[in-house]
Amino acid sequence: MQHLNVAPENHVKVLGGQGWVGLIDHLGNETTAVNAARVSFGKIKTEMDDRDITLLEYLIDNRHTSPLEHVVFTFSIHCPLFVRGQWHRHRTWSYNEISRRYTEVDLEFYTPPALRRQAQNNRQASVSDESFDDEALRAMIADHNRKSFELYENLLEQGVCREQARGVLPQNMMVTFWGTVDLSNLLHFLELRDSEHAQWEIREYAIAIKKLIKPLIPNVAEYFSKKGQSW
Ligand SMILES: Cc1cc2nc3c(=O)[nH]c(=O)nc-3n(C[C@H](O)[C@H](O)[C@H](O)COP(=O)(O)OP(=O)(O)OC[C@H]3O[C@@H](n4cnc5c(N)ncnc54)[C@H](O)[C@@H]3O)c2cc1C
Repeated sequence: MQHLNVAPENHVKVLGGQGWVGLIDHLGNETTAVNAARVSFGKIKTEMDDRDITLLEYLIDNRHTSPLEHVVFTFSIHCPLFVRGQWHRHRTWSYNEISRRYTEVDLEFYTPPALRRQAQNNRQASVSDESFDDEALRAMIADHNRKSFELYENLLEQGVCREQARGVLPQNMMVTFWGTVDLSNLLHFLELRDSEHAQWEIREYAIAIKKLIKPLIPNVAEYFSKKGQSW
């Protein structure tokens, strides 16, 4: 899959190398947020000093979120369809996606690098279990992915339109989309998705996004690290 103009140093692989997230572009940085917070004073700073860091922390602490909304990121995301479903619940992002109505090139399917057991006490949760011998099960998933793709190709060969044929492709199908979000709503996304309550697959992406944006917002990262969050 072509990485949509994301330079290699600006994308992070996830899901055992089957997915990735890249930083396409960004607008502003931490000084943008503190300049926005001090707009009434008409002074523009270009470097963060200690007072700016204190102000930035105050903004986050007190959910004074609007200055953070002047900092914007665009990501390119390559993930399974079921991760995309969870991601797109975040309505404060803007999205565009490669459409399977137009193309069948580069169709790929996710086979989990390891399978987790269903948690007994929580239907939404799973547990890692190293004794879980998953090789045969993973082979079955890969086989199912391949057979779905064969059926899809067969339908296209018989003249069925792409928009209906795609219905036989599994939720493991990889999709690629762009997502743009401001810093305030991105922090909200990261809090929800880099969490032990989130599915491992989407959590991988949240952790990767932190790696990508940390150099741009080092004091925000430091703030959350001091609060005990991993950044
Ligand atoms: C661990 C986990 C499990 C989940 N399980 C389920 C599930 O079982 N079923 C399910 O349906 N969903 C589930 N979700 C999705 C969840 O309910 C949210 O839809 C998703 O996390 C997006 O959160 P959000 O609405 O805060 O984000 P965004 O849509 O990005 O919104 C950010 C914030 O903007 C404000 N906002 C946005 N839109 C509106 C609006 N229309 N009206 C008022 N305020 C708004 C809210 O303050 C919101 O918190 C789950 C999410 C997580 C993290």
